[in-house]
Amino acid sequence: MARTPIVGGNWKMNTDLASGGALASGVSDAVGDGGGVDVVVFPPFPYLAAVGQVLSEHGTSVKLGAQDVWHEANGAFTGEISLEMLKDCGVSSVLVGHSERRHVIGETDDLIASKTRAVLGSGLQCVLCIGEKLEEREAGSTDAVNERQLRSALEGVAEGQLANLVVAYEPVWAIGTGKTATPEDAQDAHAAVRGVLGSLFGADQASGIRIQYGGSMKPGNASELMAQPDIDGGLIGGASLKAGDFSEIVRLAGN
Ligand code: PEP
Repeated sequence: MARTPIVGGNWKMNTDLASGGALASGVSDAVGDGGGVDVVVFPPFPYLAAVGQVLSEHGTSVKLGAQDVWHEANGAFTGEISLEMLKDCGVSSVLVGHSERRHVIGETDDLIASKTRAVLGSGLQCVLCIGEKLEEREAGSTDAVNERQLRSALEGVAEGQLANLVVAYEPVWAIGTGKTATPEDAQDAHAAVRGVLGSLFGADQASGIRIQYGGSMKPGNASELMAQPDIDGGLIGGASLKAGDFSEIVRLAGN
């Protein structure tokens, strides 16, 4: 099944109000209508509304995403942000289970499963991040870790929700380190991920789910990675903070 490439820019805890607006403006101008690629930027929470405003003023196809969410609708969850709040800000896509949430903040598979169900249940796009740590790769358990994270997060997800599911395979050792999986290793992992999706939802459904690669992707390595048959775009951290680099990756994704 032909899959539309998707490229996301995870700004993490970077930018401020002025520089976030300027980055959104630069990305909008450079990306334009996306050239057949779905593009999402994930600014920090406090700047969502302002960045959303910049995107809509530019009339761009670039979508607004959030880096995280809390799965309950409302109530006594100090410091947390609900899906309705994100929708109010114009968000249409949410990252769930980013490795920094899993391994720095300490989110568990169970919490990530709750968030995944909540995002997909709300009708927003869920970018579910999975990936192994260096010691897991060295122990030969890359595919087992990805399978565990996928099966846990996707339990109870209905077939009708799969159009809003994107999986981001991000080997933890490659995130922000300058190290990248070889295109062959990344392809092997992506093919195994698609195999797990197939065993959960059937091969037909699995063939329509986009799987992004993330981990030090930049203009110099993006083409080779995205040329792999099961790599459907990228989730970009560092390089998403430069409008020129990010839009170049978007352009390469469309080739
Ligand atoms: C990420 O944060 O999802 C990521 C892939 O970061 P970087 O591109 O900086 O490795």
